[in-house]
Amino acid sequence: MSSSFPKTPLGMYNDLNRRYFDGELPSNVVFRWAEPHGEVEYIDTREDEAAVLKADGVWIMYLNAGLKCFPRQLYMTIAHEAIHIRYPDALHGGSVWKREVRRLQGLGLFLRCF
Ligand SMILES: [Zn+2]
Repeated sequence: MSSSFPKTPLGMYNDLNRRYFDGELPSNVVFRWAEPHGEVEYIDTREDEAAVLKADGVWIMYLNAGLKCFPRQLYMTIAHEAIHIRYPDALHGGSVWKREVRRLQGLGLFLRCF
């Protein structure tokens, strides 16, 4: 990855969409930082990296603010959440999930397999 590595969650999401998802990910996604004691309680920032949910037709991706210091980890986290967006019914470790992780790995995106 070059100096053009995206710097924002939206930039990372768009980069992932272009590189790995053939532009098929939806564009109605907004990104929120989840602070340890902030207003957002959808994720446990001590344990979880991110969560995504759909509200009023818009995907909201909550990202652990601790990831701000680790852009590549953030990128991979957004990739993981992008699978949830693309396959909302897929369960971690299920057949659809595994197939998608393997597809992305085949393209050089080395997601953890959970
Ligand atoms: Zn997940």
